[in-house]
Amino acid sequence: MIKFLDLKMVNNNYKRELSDACNRVIDSGWYILGQELETFEQEFADFCNVKYAVGVANGLDALALVIRAWKEMGKLKPGDEIIVPANTYIASILAISENDLVPVLVEPDPKTYNLCPKNTEKAITIKTKAILSVHLYGLLSPMPELMAIAKENNLLVLEDCAQAHGAEINGKRAGNWGDAGAFSFYPGKNLGALGDAGAITTNDKELASVLKALRNYGSHKKYENLYKGVNSRLDEIQAAMLRVKLRYLEDETNNRRNIAKRYIGEIINPLVSLPTWGGDSDHVFHLFVIETEHRDNLHEFLLSKGIETMIHYPKAPHKQQAYTEYKDFVLPITEGIHKRVLSLPIGPFMEETEVNQIINAVNLYE
Ligand SMILES: *Cc1c(COP(=O)(O)O)cnc(C)c1O
Repeated sequence: MIKFLDLKMVNNNYKRELSDACNRVIDSGWYILGQELETFEQEFADFCNVKYAVGVANGLDALALVIRAWKEMGKLKPGDEIIVPANTYIASILAISENDLVPVLVEPDPKTYNLCPKNTEKAITIKTKAILSVHLYGLLSPMPELMAIAKENNLLVLEDCAQAHGAEINGKRAGNWGDAGAFSFYPGKNLGALGDAGAITTNDKELASVLKALRNYGSHKKYENLYKGVNSRLDEIQAAMLRVKLRYLEDETNNRRNIAKRYIGEIINPLVSLPTWGGDSDHVFHLFVIETEHRDNLHEFLLSKGIETMIHYPKAPHKQQAYTEYKDFVLPITEGIHKRVLSLPIGPFMEETEVNQIINAVNLYE
């Protein structure tokens, strides 16, 4: 069986270094907000080429805390609208509604799955205060165009970078385009911890400072609370795990891109459409998503050939029970995507023979 993603095998490559890092934290006697986190924040900021990175407990908190911080800074208020792609993972939308702002669900570009400048512009109203662009499946959104729209309309830009660590356009990486970027280090993400973790990137000194307080009960100084904050810290052990794995991220991304190149070059089945990608570094292939009208059959067929695939995602956020207020929305592009998409395995340590097997099996499907 070819697993969709074999995390045990991925982390086994680094077992020695991970164990050493873990022991270093155990021996330090310091487990929360210490040297490992500070060093990881600096290393991750350098990786994204931004001034500040702020570690938090997970990717959802990274998104939500940026919006919360902008409220504290007087830049957003309840009822303001934030434009977000309708086909995103539900976390992007939860981060907005959790803050009592209004998510404005916008149909994505059906080719890239990301926000397109035209639909974004059309969705702007007098209440629009921000754009939340999601770099879905690992492809960077059209940030030069989106930033121009934001500038013209005086909007904040928050990037959901949970699937796009290291993706870049014109040498500028995810998390360095908008006013802030939110990252997840959930174990299955391109940079994955061995538990939950997340971070915010920004070049805004004040935002970084407010975030550092918000994640720690609203406090910079023990027992002095500036805000009604939360507890959302990235702990020392996970920071140490992430420091090890960050060193290998570029190599893993190259492996993912090489597998994607093979899929795109060698899958030739008229029933299947492949992602559009010009071979540039705008894509880090968190997922390799194909589309077919026969999605559920292809999923079963591949399973019968010993290949595990997954669906990202089976149900659109506006069709979820959690958002019954959107149940009558008609979003044909988004709904079509959820009916047709299927993700092939693209783990960074897949064997050549496994990639061959997957290509052959998809080509055999009729
Ligand atoms: C994974 C993910 C998140 C949430 O990250 P967690 O660390 O699981 O909270 C948010 N947005 C997108 C697009 C994601 O893929």
